[in-house]
Amino acid sequence: MLSAPTGKINKAKHAIVIGAGLAGSNIAERLAARGWLVDIIEAGNSVASGASGNPAGIVLPQIAKDDALPARFSRLCYDYLLQRLRQLPACDWHQCGVLQIARDGAHELQQAAAIEALQLPAEFVEFVPRLRAQEIAGQTLAHGAWWFSQGGWLMPGSLCSALLALRDSHIKCHFNTKISHLSYGNNLWHAYSADSELVAAAPHIVLANAFAANELLEHPLPLKIIRGQISCAPATTLPKIDSVLCRTGYLTPAHNGRVSFGASFTNDDSDLSIRTNEHAENLQRLHEVLPQFDISKVNIGQLTGRAALRTVTPDRMPIVGAVPADIATPPRVVTLANLDRVPGLHALLGLSARGIVWAPLAAEHLACAMNQELSPLPQNIGNAIDAGRFVLRALRQH
Ligand SMILES: Cc1cc2nc3c(=O)[nH]c(=O)nc-3n(C[C@H](O)[C@H](O)[C@H](O)COP(=O)(O)OP(=O)(O)OC[C@H]3O[C@@H](n4cnc5c(N)ncnc54)[C@H](O)[C@@H]3O)c2cc1C
Repeated sequence: MLSAPTGKINKAKHAIVIGAGLAGSNIAERLAARGWLVDIIEAGNSVASGASGNPAGIVLPQIAKDDALPARFSRLCYDYLLQRLRQLPACDWHQCGVLQIARDGAHELQQAAAIEALQLPAEFVEFVPRLRAQEIAGQTLAHGAWWFSQGGWLMPGSLCSALLALRDSHIKCHFNTKISHLSYGNNLWHAYSADSELVAAAPHIVLANAFAANELLEHPLPLKIIRGQISCAPATTLPKIDSVLCRTGYLTPAHNGRVSFGASFTNDDSDLSIRTNEHAENLQRLHEVLPQFDISKVNIGQLTGRAALRTVTPDRMPIVGAVPADIATPPRVVTLANLDRVPGLHALLGLSARGIVWAPLAAEHLACAMNQELSPLPQNIGNAIDAGRFVLRALRQH
């Protein structure tokens, strides 16, 4: 637990980052790129020990016909990620394109109408009818699809490693170190391990440790977990595809003789054991993607898997920015701009099932705030991910 400080922010450019998954690695790199020194502290023995440790994750944006704020945020994030990946050749990234296949005939019409309405560039997304989608997939499909020719899949852990390696002169990694207590004194945050050893001290601290952030906060943030299990199979047991295929689940093309498909969703379940029934659910999702493939041919006993926890927020947007302080007497008109914040305490949390795509731009936005620069995000999107929004909503209800 932390003892909440008051007073002015120490402007020295040194930060502690807790967690070395996608959130922690991205913010560490963005701060280091600005000349900051970063101590990144990770409970596991390497980067990507939590949700970011899956062998494959899909790179694609959200599309919505009304182009509501989450879709616009996702599009900006996707563009930014694609730019970043061009600068990170060490990342295990496969730009093979993604087909997001319609659920049924009605959904196919909606997909086509959304593209017509949004007028997005074809290199970003286009609607492809079933026959064209089949040509791209190299397999029989049930419906047409959105085609993201610049999308693909990557190994999230390789992105974390590539980011930290890019700025290794400015980033010190502390692995096998779980932070169990924070305190604030003399304008510095102090991070302590379970045996009360001081691991690092710095004027700024970023909580990038997903749902476990609440173990360190006096006032919890509204974070929930959703367990997810992916399944992996020998590539020879499944039809060959050249692009990622998605519907309610996904299938990746073969890599090193294996394919990944998934993933299950189980609310409020933190158990990480591999379950046969969730492999069976993933096979059902695979059947929706490839309706002509007889899934009974797959021997469940041959499947391997990995289970991890997604961290979600009530409005399904991430939590990014300065953590709100305990407010004894709120101003008469309370806004995100005048909301009290805990000096030097920042969050990059709640990356949900979209952390690969969201984390890089969310980290850039946070780094801009910490370094007192203008963010590339429009104000309304910045407000929609602001770490203070839930406190603001609660205050306004009174
Ligand atoms: C099954 C599944 C499939 C997914 N598929 C996709 C996909 O296709 N595309 C996509 O964009 N996203 C996908 N995601 C989401 C993505 O993986 C997550 O959003 C992302 O990994 C979250 O990153 P994070 O850094 O916030 O959390 P994590 O990766 O969980 O990192 C948090 C880290 O903090 C460490 N930690 C915790 N507490 C402490 C402490 N006290 N001290 C020190 N270290 C601590 C943990 O060990 C962990 O390494 C998927 C997630 C799951 C579970």
